[in-house]
Amino acid sequence: MEIKTFVEGPIDANNYLIIDEKTKEAVLIDCSSARPEFIKAVEDSGVKLKYILLTHGHFDHLLGIDAFKEAFGVDTYVAEEDLTQVKLVPDMMQMFLGMPPVPIPAIVNFVNDGDEFKIGDTVIKAISTPGHTKGGMCYLVENNLFSGDTLFQGSVGRCDLLEGDLKAIVKSIKEKLFTLPDDTRVYPGHGASTTVGYEKKYNEILNI
Ligand SMILES: [Zn+2]
Repeated sequence: MEIKTFVEGPIDANNYLIIDEKTKEAVLIDCSSARPEFIKAVEDSGVKLKYILLTHGHFDHLLGIDAFKEAFGVDTYVAEEDLTQVKLVPDMMQMFLGMPPVPIPAIVNFVNDGDEFKIGDTVIKAISTPGHTKGGMCYLVENNLFSGDTLFQGSVGRCDLLEGDLKAIVKSIKEKLFTLPDDTRVYPGHGASTTVGYEKKYNEILNI
């Protein structure tokens, strides 16, 4: 399995292309930009893109999904609880970035806790982690965790936005993520990667 990271979009979100090396099938975790160079880079990597899996419905993680659907014919999955967030994308673009509204991205596929997606023999498992948003999802692939805006290096996702819930994020992280092996590598939605073991020692959540 190979992981390629693309930092894209108005708030520098991490997009992770996970490639099954045998079959070249791939999944994209988050899709934050429709920038042609981003689409071309994915095309040039020679993969068969099977799914786009969103960690949550915030605008800065999904602005590319319509363009990717057009380029690759690929469907996007999000937790149904985050559809409210997806519908707010045009408003958020205006509010946070002062940008003209964009159409609401088209999503018709939902992901639930425990769902599994396959690229070749590689399995991607969805873990529901509400808190930053109601429908927050992390994805576990072997010993790699794609944590969206739930868990960052040294910190956790903000919970003061619409439907954010600090108690819920603490529970999600402590009960679901911190029970993974210490050497699980964590790939967050923004910023540098880390490990579960490091975060269990140093994350600000220990003071919450
Ligand atoms: Zn977010």
